[in-house]
Amino acid sequence: MSCLICAGQAESVECTLGWEERRCARCGCYRMSQSLILVMMEEGQIFDTERMRAWLAVTRGQVPVPAIDHDQAILLL
Ligand SMILES: [Zn+2]
Repeated sequence: MSCLICAGQAESVECTLGWEERRCARCGCYRMSQSLILVMMEEGQIFDTERMRAWLAVTRGQVPVPAIDHDQAILLL
């Protein structure tokens, strides 16, 4: 399984319906909505890896496993 943010090797973790959870050695543990993943694939968009990791680091101060949906996605433009 690959990381949805950096495409590196990541472990897939069972989680809630409609969400994908990954544990990546470099990005850490996070959830991503399947709806966001679909849109990104359809539109051929990729994440701004560095900025997403920074967002994850900050958000982990509030919740153990940050959830990334459309409003949280930081894309590489
Ligand atoms: Zn990663």
